[in-house]
Amino acid sequence: MNMFKSFLLKYAEIGVKGKNRYVFEDALVSQIKRALDGIDGRFEVRKVSGRIYAQALEEFDYDEAVDALKKVFGLVGICPLVQFDDSGFEDLALKVIEYMDKMYPDKKKTFKVFTRRARKNYPMDSTEINMEMGSRILDAFPEMSVDVHNPDIKLNIEIREQINIYSEIIPGLGGMPLGTAGKAMLLLSGGIDSPVAGYMTAKRGVTLEATYFHAPPYTSERAKQKVIDLAKKMSVYTGPIKLNIVNFTDIQMYIYERCPHEELTIIMRRYMMKIAEHFAKESDCLGLVTGESIGQVASQTMQSMLVTNAVCTLPVYRPLVAFDKQDIVDVACKIDTYETSILPYEDCCTIFVAEHPATKPKLSCIEKSESHMAGKIDELMEKAIETVEIAYVK
Ligand code: ATP
Ligand code: MG
Repeated sequence: MNMFKSFLLKYAEIGVKGKNRYVFEDALVSQIKRALDGIDGRFEVRKVSGRIYAQALEEFDYDEAVDALKKVFGLVGICPLVQFDDSGFEDLALKVIEYMDKMYPDKKKTFKVFTRRARKNYPMDSTEINMEMGSRILDAFPEMSVDVHNPDIKLNIEIREQINIYSEIIPGLGGMPLGTAGKAMLLLSGGIDSPVAGYMTAKRGVTLEATYFHAPPYTSERAKQKVIDLAKKMSVYTGPIKLNIVNFTDIQMYIYERCPHEELTIIMRRYMMKIAEHFAKESDCLGLVTGESIGQVASQTMQSMLVTNAVCTLPVYRPLVAFDKQDIVDVACKIDTYETSILPYEDCCTIFVAEHPATKPKLSCIEKSESHMAGKIDELMEKAIETVEIAYVK
Protein backbone atom coordinates (compact mmCIF):
# COMPACT_ATOMS: atom_id res chain seq x y z
CA MET A 1 0.00 0.00 0.00
CA ASN A 2 1.41 3.36 -0.81
CA MET A 3 1.29 6.21 1.65
CA PHE A 4 0.13 8.76 -0.88
CA LYS A 5 -3.57 9.18 -1.38
CA SER A 6 -3.48 12.34 -3.40
CA PHE A 7 -1.44 14.76 -5.46
CA LEU A 8 -1.07 18.49 -5.37
CA LEU A 9 -0.73 19.55 -8.98
CA LYS A 10 1.19 22.71 -9.71
CA TYR A 11 0.96 24.88 -12.77
CA ALA A 12 2.77 28.01 -13.84
CA GLU A 13 0.55 31.00 -13.39
CA ILE A 14 2.55 33.46 -15.43
CA GLY A 15 0.34 35.12 -17.98
CA VAL A 16 -2.78 33.40 -16.73
CA LYS A 17 -4.70 36.10 -15.02
CA GLY A 18 -8.28 37.25 -14.59
CA LYS A 19 -10.85 35.48 -16.69
CA ASN A 20 -8.23 33.50 -18.60
CA ARG A 21 -7.15 31.89 -15.38
CA TYR A 22 -10.49 30.11 -15.03
CA VAL A 23 -10.39 28.93 -18.62
CA PHE A 24 -6.85 27.65 -18.05
CA GLU A 25 -7.66 25.92 -14.77
CA ASP A 26 -10.88 24.33 -16.00
CA ALA A 27 -9.13 22.99 -19.10
CA LEU A 28 -6.31 21.67 -16.93
CA VAL A 29 -8.75 19.95 -14.55
CA SER A 30 -10.50 18.23 -17.44
CA GLN A 31 -7.19 17.07 -18.93
CA ILE A 32 -6.05 15.71 -15.57
CA LYS A 33 -9.33 13.81 -15.32
CA ARG A 34 -8.81 12.41 -18.80
CA ALA A 35 -5.28 11.29 -17.96
CA LEU A 36 -6.34 9.61 -14.71
CA ASP A 37 -9.38 8.01 -16.32
CA GLY A 38 -7.02 5.82 -18.27
CA ILE A 39 -5.56 4.13 -15.20
CA ASP A 40 -6.89 1.79 -12.57
CA GLY A 41 -8.42 3.44 -9.53
CA ARG A 42 -10.86 6.33 -9.34
CA PHE A 43 -9.80 9.87 -8.55
CA GLU A 44 -11.55 13.05 -7.65
CA VAL A 45 -9.93 16.08 -9.25
CA ARG A 46 -10.76 19.35 -7.54
CA LYS A 47 -9.87 22.97 -7.81
CA VAL A 48 -9.59 24.42 -4.31
CA SER A 49 -8.67 28.06 -3.80
CA GLY A 50 -6.37 28.34 -6.78
CA ARG A 51 -4.85 24.88 -6.50
CA ILE A 52 -5.61 21.57 -8.06
CA TYR A 53 -5.75 18.31 -6.15
CA ALA A 54 -6.24 14.80 -7.43
CA GLN A 55 -7.51 12.62 -4.63
CA ALA A 56 -7.63 8.85 -4.89
CA LEU A 57 -10.98 7.36 -3.96
CA GLU A 58 -9.62 3.83 -3.91
CA GLU A 59 -6.33 1.94 -4.15
CA PHE A 60 -4.29 2.87 -7.19
CA ASP A 61 -0.96 2.17 -8.79
CA TYR A 62 1.29 5.07 -7.80
CA ASP A 63 3.75 4.76 -10.70
CA GLU A 64 0.96 4.51 -13.23
CA ALA A 65 -0.73 7.62 -11.82
CA VAL A 66 2.48 9.65 -11.84
CA ASP A 67 3.21 8.48 -15.35
CA ALA A 68 -0.23 9.62 -16.54
CA LEU A 69 0.14 13.00 -14.84
CA LYS A 70 3.55 13.48 -16.43
CA LYS A 71 1.76 13.52 -19.79
CA VAL A 72 -0.59 16.38 -19.02
CA PHE A 73 0.30 19.66 -20.72
CA GLY A 74 0.16 22.62 -18.36
CA LEU A 75 1.41 20.88 -15.22
CA VAL A 76 4.81 21.96 -13.97
CA GLY A 77 4.95 19.95 -10.77
CA ILE A 78 3.37 16.81 -9.38
CA CYS A 79 3.57 16.60 -5.59
CA PRO A 80 2.56 13.31 -3.97
CA LEU A 81 0.77 14.31 -0.77
CA VAL A 82 0.24 12.72 2.56
CA GLN A 83 -3.05 14.15 3.78
CA PHE A 84 -4.82 13.74 7.08
CA ASP A 85 -7.19 15.46 9.49
CA ASP A 86 -5.80 17.73 12.13
CA SER A 87 -5.41 15.98 15.51
CA GLY A 88 -3.08 18.43 17.14
CA PHE A 89 0.64 19.14 16.86
CA GLU A 90 1.84 15.96 18.60
CA ASP A 91 0.02 13.83 16.07
CA LEU A 92 1.39 15.97 13.23
CA ALA A 93 4.94 15.55 14.53
CA LEU A 94 4.53 11.76 14.63
CA LYS A 95 3.22 11.69 11.09
CA VAL A 96 6.01 13.93 9.82
CA ILE A 97 8.65 11.71 11.41
CA GLU A 98 7.05 8.61 9.95
CA TYR A 99 6.97 10.35 6.56
CA MET A 100 10.63 11.38 6.71
CA ASP A 101 11.62 7.89 7.77
CA LYS A 102 9.81 6.21 4.88
CA MET A 103 10.77 8.74 2.23
CA TYR A 104 14.45 9.01 3.10
CA PRO A 105 15.95 5.68 4.15
CA ASP A 106 19.35 7.35 3.83
CA LYS A 107 19.35 9.90 6.64
CA LYS A 108 22.53 11.75 5.69
CA LYS A 109 20.53 14.66 4.38
CA THR A 110 19.90 18.31 5.05
CA PHE A 111 16.39 19.67 5.32
CA LYS A 112 14.30 22.73 5.91
CA VAL A 113 10.69 22.89 7.06
CA PHE A 114 8.32 25.21 5.19
CA THR A 115 4.98 25.66 6.88
CA ARG A 116 2.01 27.47 5.38
CA ARG A 117 -0.84 28.11 7.70
CA ALA A 118 -3.92 28.84 5.61
CA ARG A 119 -6.15 28.11 8.61
CA LYS A 120 -5.36 30.88 11.03
CA ASN A 121 -7.05 29.29 14.05
CA TYR A 122 -4.28 26.69 14.32
CA PRO A 123 -2.72 27.27 17.76
CA MET A 124 0.86 27.71 16.49
CA ASP A 125 2.01 30.08 13.76
CA SER A 126 4.15 28.92 10.86
CA THR A 127 7.46 30.05 12.35
CA GLU A 128 6.75 28.17 15.55
CA ILE A 129 5.82 25.06 13.62
CA ASN A 130 9.00 25.31 11.51
CA MET A 131 11.19 25.60 14.59
CA GLU A 132 9.48 22.94 16.64
CA MET A 133 9.17 20.45 13.78
CA GLY A 134 12.82 21.02 12.88
CA SER A 135 13.96 20.05 16.34
CA ARG A 136 11.63 17.02 16.46
CA ILE A 137 13.13 15.76 13.21
CA LEU A 138 16.67 16.33 14.50
CA ASP A 139 15.81 14.42 17.68
CA ALA A 140 14.40 11.50 15.72
CA PHE A 141 17.18 11.41 13.11
CA PRO A 142 20.44 12.75 14.54
CA GLU A 143 22.18 12.17 11.20
CA MET A 144 20.02 14.77 9.52
CA SER A 145 20.85 18.44 9.70
CA VAL A 146 19.20 21.73 8.90
CA ASP A 147 20.26 23.83 5.94
CA VAL A 148 18.17 26.92 5.47
CA HIS A 149 19.84 27.99 2.21
CA ASN A 150 20.15 24.90 0.08
CA PRO A 151 18.47 21.93 1.76
CA ASP A 152 18.31 18.46 0.15
CA ILE A 153 14.78 18.08 1.42
CA LYS A 154 12.21 20.86 1.39
CA LEU A 155 9.56 19.56 3.72
CA ASN A 156 6.29 21.37 3.15
CA ILE A 157 3.61 21.36 5.82
CA GLU A 158 0.33 22.96 4.91
CA ILE A 159 -2.30 23.60 7.51
CA ARG A 160 -5.57 23.81 5.60
CA GLU A 161 -8.97 22.17 6.12
CA GLN A 162 -6.82 19.08 6.27
CA ILE A 163 -3.08 18.87 6.73
CA ASN A 164 -0.83 18.19 3.76
CA ILE A 165 2.78 17.14 3.85
CA TYR A 166 5.00 16.78 0.82
CA SER A 167 8.61 17.13 -0.13
CA GLU A 168 8.85 15.76 -3.66
CA ILE A 169 8.03 17.79 -6.73
CA ILE A 170 8.10 15.58 -9.80
CA PRO A 171 8.60 17.81 -12.86
CA GLY A 172 5.60 18.08 -15.18
CA LEU A 173 5.63 18.66 -18.93
CA GLY A 174 4.87 22.38 -18.84
CA GLY A 175 3.07 23.96 -21.78
CA MET A 176 -0.57 24.98 -21.85
CA PRO A 177 -3.59 22.78 -21.14
CA LEU A 178 -5.21 21.28 -24.20
CA GLY A 179 -8.27 23.12 -25.32
CA THR A 180 -7.04 26.61 -24.48
CA ALA A 181 -5.80 27.62 -27.92
CA GLY A 182 -8.13 26.58 -30.73
CA LYS A 183 -7.70 23.77 -33.25
CA ALA A 184 -5.13 23.01 -35.96
CA MET A 185 -4.87 20.50 -38.80
CA LEU A 186 -1.69 18.41 -38.68
CA LEU A 187 -0.39 16.88 -41.90
CA LEU A 188 0.57 13.55 -40.41
CA SER A 189 2.81 11.21 -42.37
CA GLY A 190 4.42 8.04 -41.16
CA GLY A 191 7.77 9.78 -40.62
CA ILE A 192 9.61 10.94 -37.53
CA ASP A 193 8.89 14.62 -37.81
CA SER A 194 5.18 15.21 -38.15
CA PRO A 195 4.18 13.40 -34.92
CA VAL A 196 6.74 15.55 -33.09
CA ALA A 197 5.38 18.68 -34.77
CA GLY A 198 1.88 17.71 -33.65
CA TYR A 199 3.05 17.07 -30.11
CA MET A 200 4.82 20.43 -29.92
CA THR A 201 1.76 22.26 -31.17
CA ALA A 202 -0.57 20.45 -28.80
CA LYS A 203 1.81 21.33 -25.99
CA ARG A 204 0.78 24.95 -26.47
CA GLY A 205 -2.82 24.03 -25.77
CA VAL A 206 -3.88 23.45 -29.39
CA THR A 207 -6.42 20.73 -30.15
CA LEU A 208 -5.34 18.59 -33.12
CA GLU A 209 -7.03 17.04 -36.07
CA ALA A 210 -4.90 15.23 -38.66
CA THR A 211 -4.81 14.40 -42.36
CA TYR A 212 -2.84 11.55 -43.88
CA PHE A 213 -2.37 10.96 -47.62
CA HIS A 214 -1.81 7.49 -48.93
CA ALA A 215 -1.56 5.99 -52.37
CA PRO A 216 -3.06 2.53 -52.47
CA PRO A 217 -2.12 0.08 -53.91
CA TYR A 218 1.36 1.63 -54.05
CA THR A 219 1.26 2.15 -50.32
CA SER A 220 0.08 -0.72 -48.17
CA GLU A 221 -2.49 -1.24 -45.43
CA ARG A 222 0.47 -1.60 -43.08
CA ALA A 223 1.67 1.90 -43.95
CA LYS A 224 -1.79 3.24 -43.16
CA GLN A 225 -1.97 1.28 -39.92
CA LYS A 226 1.39 2.73 -38.96
CA VAL A 227 -0.03 6.25 -39.19
CA ILE A 228 -3.07 5.25 -37.16
CA ASP A 229 -0.68 3.78 -34.57
CA LEU A 230 1.30 7.01 -34.52
CA ALA A 231 -1.87 9.03 -33.99
CA LYS A 232 -2.75 6.68 -31.16
CA LYS A 233 0.62 7.23 -29.50
CA MET A 234 0.28 10.98 -29.90
CA SER A 235 -3.23 10.93 -28.48
CA VAL A 236 -1.88 9.97 -25.05
CA TYR A 237 -0.67 13.56 -24.94
CA THR A 238 -2.93 15.35 -27.39
CA GLY A 239 -6.28 13.75 -26.60
CA PRO A 240 -8.42 12.01 -29.24
CA ILE A 241 -7.52 12.79 -32.85
CA LYS A 242 -9.87 12.76 -35.81
CA LEU A 243 -7.72 11.40 -38.63
CA ASN A 244 -8.72 12.08 -42.25
CA ILE A 245 -7.25 9.43 -44.51
CA VAL A 246 -7.15 10.67 -48.09
CA ASN A 247 -6.63 8.52 -51.15
CA PHE A 248 -4.05 10.48 -53.10
CA THR A 249 -3.25 7.93 -55.80
CA ASP A 250 -5.10 9.46 -58.74
CA ILE A 251 -3.82 12.94 -58.02
CA GLN A 252 -0.29 11.70 -57.68
CA MET A 253 -0.49 9.70 -60.92
CA TYR A 254 -1.94 12.66 -62.75
CA ILE A 255 0.80 14.98 -61.51
CA TYR A 256 3.33 12.38 -62.63
CA GLU A 257 1.73 12.20 -66.04
CA ARG A 258 1.47 15.94 -66.65
CA CYS A 259 4.24 17.72 -64.78
CA PRO A 260 8.05 17.76 -64.90
CA HIS A 261 9.29 15.04 -62.62
CA GLU A 262 11.72 17.20 -60.70
CA GLU A 263 8.71 19.28 -59.63
CA LEU A 264 6.66 16.32 -58.41
CA THR A 265 7.44 16.71 -54.74
CA ILE A 266 6.60 20.37 -54.54
CA ILE A 267 3.44 20.06 -56.61
CA MET A 268 2.30 17.10 -54.57
CA ARG A 269 2.92 19.03 -51.39
CA ARG A 270 0.81 21.92 -52.72
CA TYR A 271 -2.12 19.59 -53.42
CA MET A 272 -1.75 17.99 -50.01
CA MET A 273 -1.90 21.44 -48.44
CA LYS A 274 -4.99 22.39 -50.44
CA ILE A 275 -6.85 19.26 -49.43
CA ALA A 276 -5.74 19.45 -45.82
CA GLU A 277 -6.89 23.05 -45.78
CA HIS A 278 -10.29 22.02 -47.07
CA PHE A 279 -10.75 19.66 -44.11
CA ALA A 280 -9.22 22.22 -41.78
CA LYS A 281 -11.80 24.83 -42.71
CA GLU A 282 -14.60 22.31 -42.46
CA SER A 283 -13.54 21.64 -38.85
CA ASP A 284 -12.90 25.27 -37.87
CA CYS A 285 -9.16 24.80 -37.60
CA LEU A 286 -7.17 28.01 -37.36
CA GLY A 287 -4.02 26.75 -39.04
CA LEU A 288 -2.11 23.88 -40.65
CA VAL A 289 0.87 22.15 -39.03
CA THR A 290 3.67 20.26 -40.77
CA GLY A 291 6.88 18.57 -39.66
CA GLU A 292 9.11 20.50 -42.04
CA SER A 293 12.47 21.82 -40.92
CA ILE A 294 14.63 24.11 -43.04
CA GLY A 295 17.19 22.24 -45.11
CA GLN A 296 16.40 18.82 -43.67
CA VAL A 297 15.82 17.32 -47.12
CA ALA A 298 16.07 18.85 -50.55
CA SER A 299 12.38 19.67 -50.67
CA GLN A 300 12.42 21.54 -47.37
CA THR A 301 14.06 24.73 -48.50
CA MET A 302 12.72 28.17 -47.80
CA GLN A 303 11.91 28.48 -51.52
CA SER A 304 9.80 25.30 -51.34
CA MET A 305 7.98 26.47 -48.28
CA LEU A 306 7.23 29.79 -49.96
CA VAL A 307 5.78 27.99 -52.97
CA THR A 308 3.82 25.61 -50.73
CA ASN A 309 2.42 28.43 -48.63
CA ALA A 310 1.16 30.16 -51.76
CA VAL A 311 -1.77 27.72 -52.02
CA CYS A 312 -2.83 28.17 -48.40
CA THR A 313 -5.04 30.82 -46.95
CA LEU A 314 -4.64 29.51 -43.41
CA PRO A 315 -1.33 30.06 -41.65
CA VAL A 316 1.07 27.10 -41.86
CA TYR A 317 2.81 26.36 -38.57
CA ARG A 318 6.11 24.51 -38.69
CA PRO A 319 7.17 24.03 -35.10
CA LEU A 320 10.32 22.12 -36.10
CA VAL A 321 11.55 24.73 -38.53
CA ALA A 322 14.72 25.43 -36.58
CA PHE A 323 15.26 21.98 -35.05
CA ASP A 324 18.19 19.76 -35.90
CA LYS A 325 17.27 16.18 -36.75
CA GLN A 326 18.76 14.80 -33.54
CA ASP A 327 16.66 17.17 -31.45
CA ILE A 328 13.56 15.94 -33.27
CA VAL A 329 14.59 12.32 -32.73
CA ASP A 330 15.08 13.02 -29.02
CA VAL A 331 11.51 14.28 -28.70
CA ALA A 332 10.20 11.37 -30.81
CA CYS A 333 11.90 8.96 -28.39
CA LYS A 334 10.51 10.79 -25.39
CA ILE A 335 6.94 10.61 -26.68
CA ASP A 336 7.44 7.03 -27.87
CA THR A 337 6.68 7.59 -31.56
CA TYR A 338 10.22 6.97 -32.80
CA GLU A 339 10.13 3.17 -32.96
CA THR A 340 6.90 3.27 -34.95
CA SER A 341 8.11 6.04 -37.25
CA ILE A 342 11.18 4.12 -38.34
CA LEU A 343 9.23 1.06 -39.47
CA PRO A 344 10.17 0.75 -43.10
CA TYR A 345 6.81 1.00 -44.86
CA GLU A 346 6.28 2.93 -48.06
CA ASP A 347 5.23 6.55 -48.02
CA CYS A 348 3.29 8.06 -50.89
CA CYS A 349 5.87 10.83 -51.23
CA THR A 350 8.64 8.40 -52.00
CA ILE A 351 6.86 6.51 -54.71
CA PHE A 352 7.20 8.57 -57.84
CA VAL A 353 9.86 10.79 -56.48
CA ALA A 354 12.43 12.26 -58.88
CA GLU A 355 16.09 11.60 -58.44
CA HIS A 356 16.89 15.31 -58.36
CA PRO A 357 13.90 17.19 -57.07
CA ALA A 358 13.85 20.95 -57.63
CA THR A 359 15.21 22.55 -54.49
CA LYS A 360 14.63 26.15 -55.51
CA PRO A 361 11.24 26.07 -57.19
CA LYS A 362 9.82 29.30 -58.58
CA LEU A 363 6.17 29.94 -58.02
CA SER A 364 5.54 31.09 -61.60
CA CYS A 365 7.13 27.94 -63.07
CA ILE A 366 5.23 25.67 -60.71
CA GLU A 367 1.95 27.37 -61.48
CA LYS A 368 2.67 27.01 -65.18
CA SER A 369 3.32 23.29 -64.78
CA GLU A 370 0.15 22.89 -62.78
CA SER A 371 -1.82 24.58 -65.54
CA HIS A 372 -1.19 21.43 -67.62
CA MET A 373 -3.58 19.67 -65.26
CA ALA A 374 -6.38 22.25 -65.56
CA GLY A 375 -9.75 20.74 -66.25
CA LYS A 376 -9.25 17.40 -64.58
CA ILE A 377 -7.35 18.12 -61.37
CA ASP A 378 -10.30 19.84 -59.68
CA GLU A 379 -12.42 16.81 -60.29
CA LEU A 380 -9.71 14.53 -58.85
CA MET A 381 -9.44 16.74 -55.79
CA GLU A 382 -13.18 16.63 -55.27
CA LYS A 383 -13.12 12.88 -55.53
CA ALA A 384 -10.26 12.61 -53.01
CA ILE A 385 -12.22 14.79 -50.62
CA GLU A 386 -15.48 12.90 -51.10
CA THR A 387 -13.90 9.50 -50.56
CA VAL A 388 -12.05 10.45 -47.37
CA GLU A 389 -11.99 7.76 -44.74
CA ILE A 390 -12.18 8.94 -41.16
CA ALA A 391 -10.63 7.26 -38.14
CA TYR A 392 -11.24 8.48 -34.61
CA VAL A 393 -8.09 7.67 -32.74
CA LYS A 394 -7.71 7.61 -28.98
P1 ATP B 1 8.03 13.31 -41.69
O1 ATP B 1 9.13 12.70 -40.90
O2 ATP B 1 7.05 14.07 -40.88
O3 ATP B 1 7.40 12.34 -42.65
P2 ATP B 1 9.87 14.10 -43.68
O4 ATP B 1 11.18 14.46 -43.11
O5 ATP B 1 9.68 12.75 -44.26
O6 ATP B 1 8.77 14.39 -42.57
P3 ATP B 1 8.67 15.24 -46.03
O7 ATP B 1 8.36 13.93 -46.58
O8 ATP B 1 9.34 16.28 -46.86
O9 ATP B 1 9.54 15.22 -44.73
O10 ATP B 1 7.33 15.86 -45.47
C1 ATP B 1 7.29 17.12 -44.90
C2 ATP B 1 5.97 17.27 -44.17
O11 ATP B 1 4.87 17.17 -45.08
C3 ATP B 1 5.72 16.19 -43.15
O12 ATP B 1 6.33 16.50 -41.92
C4 ATP B 1 4.22 16.18 -43.06
O13 ATP B 1 3.76 17.23 -42.22
C5 ATP B 1 3.82 16.45 -44.49
N1 ATP B 1 3.62 15.17 -45.21
C6 ATP B 1 4.50 14.52 -45.99
N2 ATP B 1 3.96 13.37 -46.46
C7 ATP B 1 2.72 13.29 -45.97
C8 ATP B 1 1.66 12.33 -46.10
N3 ATP B 1 1.76 11.23 -46.81
N4 ATP B 1 0.48 12.61 -45.44
C9 ATP B 1 0.35 13.73 -44.68
N5 ATP B 1 1.32 14.64 -44.54
C10 ATP B 1 2.49 14.45 -45.18
MG1 MG C 1 7.95 11.74 -44.57
